[in-house]
Amino acid sequence: MMVEKDKVVSIQYTATDESGAVVDSNTDFEPLEYLHGYGNILESLEKELTGLKISEGKKVLLSPEQAYGDFDPELVIEVSRQQFPQEGEAIEMGNVVQSSDGRQLFVTDIDGDKIILDGNHPLAGRTLHFSVTIKNIREATGEELAHGHAHGHTHSENDHCGPDCGCHH
Ligand code: ZN
Repeated sequence: MMVEKDKVVSIQYTATDESGAVVDSNTDFEPLEYLHGYGNILESLEKELTGLKISEGKKVLLSPEQAYGDFDPELVIEVSRQQFPQEGEAIEMGNVVQSSDGRQLFVTDIDGDKIILDGNHPLAGRTLHFSVTIKNIREATGEELAHGHAHGHTHSENDHCGPDCGCHH
């Protein structure tokens, strides 16, 4: 069996940036299980993993465009603490708040009552080196195909079920 569309694939991965610093990894946890071919992981990474077999590994270099996009300075905005409807007092560095149109904004700087919000992905603008090992490959169930994601007992951020998904974890 090999990695291809409609297979549930388990991977162990480490992502490092240009300086070699680890920016993301699941090697200390259960393998990440995802449904291949549905954009549950980065599509450029999916493409590179297609055709691999269990226990095979691959090193993949992704440009910012292939990974989390270029850094867009226009997505960085300054607001005042008073603009937060409630809990403005409690805003801290590293918090994630939601914009009125539903985007995630990261609190990247606080200067008194001035708060800097950044709508870029934390890894935007970064070239990433992924080292991936295929731990398992299995057929997807009909339900998984219908939902477009895997129903393993491990659940990644990229792979969560919507409110009306009907599956239990
Ligand atoms: Zn589901």
